[in-house]
Order: sequence, then structure tokens, then C-alpha cells
Amino acid sequence: MFEAYEGNDLGAVYSKDKTLFKLWAPTATDVKLNLYENGDGGIPINTVPMAAGEKGTWYCERKGDLNGVYYTYSVTTGGRTNEVVDLYARAAGVNGDRGMVIDLDATDPYGFENDVRPALKNTTDAVIYEIHVRDLSSDASSGIVYAGKFLGFTETGTKNSDGLSTGIDHIKDLGVTHVQLLPSFDYATVDETKTDTAQFNWGYDPKNYNIPEGSYSTDPYNGAVRVNEMKRMVQALHSNGIRVNMDVVFNHTYDIENSWFQKTVPDYYYRKNKDKYSNASGCGNETASERAMMRKYIVDSVVYWATEYHIDGFRFDLMAVHDIETMNAVRSALDEVDPTIMVYGEGWTAEKAAIPKSKQALKSNMAKMKGIGAFNDDIRDAIKGNVFDALDKGFVNGGRNMEESIKFGVVGAVYHPQAAAGWAVSPSQSINYISCHDNFTFWDKLAISNADDSKETRIRMNKLGSAVLLTSQGVAFFQAGEEMLRSKPSDISDTGFDENSYNSPDSTNSIKWDNKADVRDICEYYKGLIAFRKAHGALRMTTAADIRNDIVFADGLEANVVAYTISNKPNNETADKIMVIFNANRSAVNVTLPSGVWDICVNAVKAGTASLGTVRGSVSVDAVSAMVLVQGDIDLKRENVTIV
Ligand code: CA
Repeated sequence: MFEAYEGNDLGAVYSKDKTLFKLWAPTATDVKLNLYENGDGGIPINTVPMAAGEKGTWYCERKGDLNGVYYTYSVTTGGRTNEVVDLYARAAGVNGDRGMVIDLDATDPYGFENDVRPALKNTTDAVIYEIHVRDLSSDASSGIVYAGKFLGFTETGTKNSDGLSTGIDHIKDLGVTHVQLLPSFDYATVDETKTDTAQFNWGYDPKNYNIPEGSYSTDPYNGAVRVNEMKRMVQALHSNGIRVNMDVVFNHTYDIENSWFQKTVPDYYYRKNKDKYSNASGCGNETASERAMMRKYIVDSVVYWATEYHIDGFRFDLMAVHDIETMNAVRSALDEVDPTIMVYGEGWTAEKAAIPKSKQALKSNMAKMKGIGAFNDDIRDAIKGNVFDALDKGFVNGGRNMEESIKFGVVGAVYHPQAAAGWAVSPSQSINYISCHDNFTFWDKLAISNADDSKETRIRMNKLGSAVLLTSQGVAFFQAGEEMLRSKPSDISDTGFDENSYNSPDSTNSIKWDNKADVRDICEYYKGLIAFRKAHGALRMTTAADIRNDIVFADGLEANVVAYTISNKPNNETADKIMVIFNANRSAVNVTLPSGVWDICVNAVKAGTASLGTVRGSVSVDAVSAMVLVQGDIDLKRENVTIV
């Protein structure tokens, strides 16, 4: 189509004595650089013609220190001139309507050069907590001063009205290894000039891909502030031992007409079907990752976030809109930065894409994408019922014949002789979850599907679900607040709950920290399961072969019971054997144990690394509950143990 430009100097390349501006715009007949004093209002302080360079680029160099100068390009194509923000801009004025030249080194918080990623040996060690920047701290019960801001993540020692920890302290206490932030690059729908008014959006409406969202900063008018504050957030999370993954949304832009892509090189960055824009994203447009400069853009962007902001992983929204080759290019570019950086996404599209399925980064094509993961919607629906049918039930809440689907999740979606055919070739490819920002929260789903059950029963279901999730092979992922029975109430929905809260008010979306006192035992249960998972590499196997060799499902069980053992010390852990039992029945079941004495570490009430008691021969597993037992672990702590 056009000659691609391979250089790494697109954008405003800053140094103290000069700045080089370079733009790829092969269809343009004229490009001018506009320099402004501010990020909004006023007329240019200077307009400079740019020269045509190699391979469709335009460039100019300005002498002097331009740090903090705002800029746009006027791009003339087909006789029409558009004023655009540089696709490679690293900073912007309010609402992202002008780029800003920035001295990135000057935006580093104190000590950022010593910031290191918390240790992560294997991808399957990850336990991911999905959180929206604003939700963490927008409710007054958070006790966080910088409510709704990046800086909310830097506040330690914060408490709710009962004196229980909130914010980053709560996350750290849970023991998760990663947070995954909902879109935190600059998105379109929150008006950054009105941050005194409560506004909310998830952020799946990209405007500037390489710039943090302004409404999460304390001053969206000064382009350097959001850059500095996002770095401070990452630094604070890292220094508390938590890695930071970003949700990235390259598959579509907020719209086409006003998109900088479209205004810079018309129709290059979007797929069309004949003369209509294709809509695999369901948002009115889909980008064309298979084109060289779109692919380069995606790769350059994630490498930039990983290096400049020390971001530790990328969750690709509607990943299957992208082509496999692009996703593999992302993986290999990030391997050069640090191979422990995670890459995963939704292995599906919203609607049909304008590239063949064989080329799409679909869940069914994961074998072609080594080192890349996909959300396991199979285990999601197996645990609690189909997300597209509010009343549908899964294993934990009364669904029947779900045993095989649970086994599929237990083995991390890899091939196992006792489970259904898998789509993952390695357990690191399966991102296991029960709920995420989309659809009903786990707790709301149970309220709808199991309205006739008591709260106590639904809590049992929640705990059983969390036990399935946190013992399964693969990567564990959960939506912030599942451990606090998070709810998204809605006055306008028939169900009373909001299943698509993308622009709902804070009252729906925020984490209500004052609920914590009532749900402390559930928080402790999640915390105990995470601690157990971290203590036992057998739950975090790194190869499909180990899973096939070491996991054996028990036969001859009652209906709605799944049980298995893990043996052979996978990952060289101390425990010789682990047994996991899930009972979804409304009454206790008796399960025969393999020979020898077993320590119980997880039961219906408690979860953790210490022994809650020992059993031999057989064990009674309470109604709607999980049990995890360990045998032969010499390091296991036995507290108040009674031999049964
Ligand atoms: Ca914005």
C-alpha cells in the first residue's frame, strides 16, 4: 500500500538543545508543525513547514529547549487540512487535544531509576487483581486523599470507618502479585476540564495511546503532571511487591471521524469491507494490525509503556481483532525488554472481523501464539453460569452436569486424557477467572440466579468458586472486590444490578470499603487460598506435560463432585501430594482418600497454609464447599491439630 517507515524516531524526539519532529503521513501533500504555549486555547506561537523525508515521513528540527511546548500538526491530504495530535505524542494538554514536547527524564519520581519489577519466576505464578483507577478510591470509605487519582495508589495506612485497611494496603494484604488497571491511557469520554464534577468511564474509548488519562492526574492541563503521577503509582505498587498490568485497547478508537489515525493517514489504519468500515470491535470501527505501520504502532506503544513506565504486562481488549503475527511481534519485542512481562487478552471479537479466522488471535489459535494468554471464558461460565443468561447456573450455584467443564478449567485448558480437548498448549496461556469488569459481578450474578437461596448459601457458592479458581492450573485473575462480595447496584435495571457499568456513576462502580467489616472472613478465605497457591508450586505447573502426568481425577464420585490428586512433586515443591475436592451438592459428601494421613488446609470455613486437622481413609466434605488436603509436606505447620 505505502512504504513503511522502520525508524524509531517518530514523534517529538527531545533533547535540551533541540527537538526533532517526525511524522509518517505518506498521503499528505503538505504538513506544518504548530507550536503553542498552552494545551488549549490561543493561537500558535509559531507554525513551521515540515520537509518531506524518506518513506512517507515529514520532519523538522527546532533548536532550543522545547520542554513543555504544546504542538499539533496540520496535515493536508487531498486538498483538505486536518489539525492532529501526533500519534507518537508522549504528553498532552487537557483532553488530549494537543501534544506536548516533554523531557521524560524530568518526569521520573525520586528513585525511579532504582525501581525494579517485583520478582516473578513463571507466568503461572501470577494472581491478577483487576481494578479501575477511580474505583479504588472514589468512595469516601476508602479514606484515600487523592480520590479517583493515580496517586490514590501511593497512599498507605488508609482505613475505612471500622479501622480496616483499604487501597494498596488491602491489595498487598490479599497477596495478589499483579494489579490489572482498566484503560489508563488517555481516553475520550471524561471531560478533563470538569474533574470537579463526578464523571465515570471504563475508558474503552481511546484517544491518545501513549499518554496517561488526564482525569486521573491532579492537573490535566499540565502535560508533565499525569506522566509523573502515573509513574509514581507504578513505583508505589512495585515497592509494595505488586506488578502492574495495563489494559490496552488497540482494536478500535473512540470514533473514526475525529481519530488522529484517520486524520493523519485517511483509511490506512482501519479495515473496510468494500466501502464500509468493518466493525469487529462492536464500537463502529476496527483497526488494521496487519498493516505495517499499525503493527509497528502497537509494538512501539507497549514497548514504550514497558520501558518508560515500567509496566509489567498488557491485557489486549478484543485481542482476536488483531492478527496473530502482530501479537507474536508484541511478544518478541517485550521479550527483549523483559520476558516476564505478560501478554494476554480476550481471544474473541465482538463482531465479524475483516481478516480470515486463521489469521486472528483467537482462543482457538493459541497454539500459534507462544507466551501469550487468553481469558478462559469456559471456566468462567462453568463456575457460575453463562454470562449471556442471567438465570443460567454453573457448578457452584446449582448447575448440573458441570463436572467435565470444571475439569477443563482445573487443567488450565491444556490437553489432559481425563478432560475435554483444550485450546492452550501451556497453562500460562489460560487466564482463569469468574468475573471481570464486564457483565455482573460474581456476587450480583448469584443474587440473580439464586434469588431463593439464603445469603449464607450464596457466600458458600462464592467461596467454592474462589477455591476452584485459585487451585486451577494457569493464571488466576479476579475482579477487585470479589473478595468483599462487590455489588454494582442499579436503579434502572430489571435485575437491580448493572451488567455494563461502563459509564455508570461512582455509586455503582466504586469499591465500598465500609462493607469490609461484614465480609472479613471471605477476604481471609481469598487471602488463604492465595497463600496456599503461592506455597504450592503444584498448583502453578509450567508445562502441559506436567499437568498430564501429575494430575489424576478421581472416578466413581457422586454427581456434582470433582476431586483430583497432584503427585510427583511438580515444580520441586515439598508437598508430596495434594488432593482437591469440590462438592457442589446441597449436602455433605464422603470422599475416599488415597492411603496415608492427610492434612486439611482448606475447608468450607478456612483456607491457608497451616493444617486445620488431619484425616485418613475418607473425609466428609461439607455442602457447597471445597476441601484441599496435603500429604507428606514436612514444612507444614500443624496448629491445634486433632487426628480424626
Ligand atoms: Ca482523556
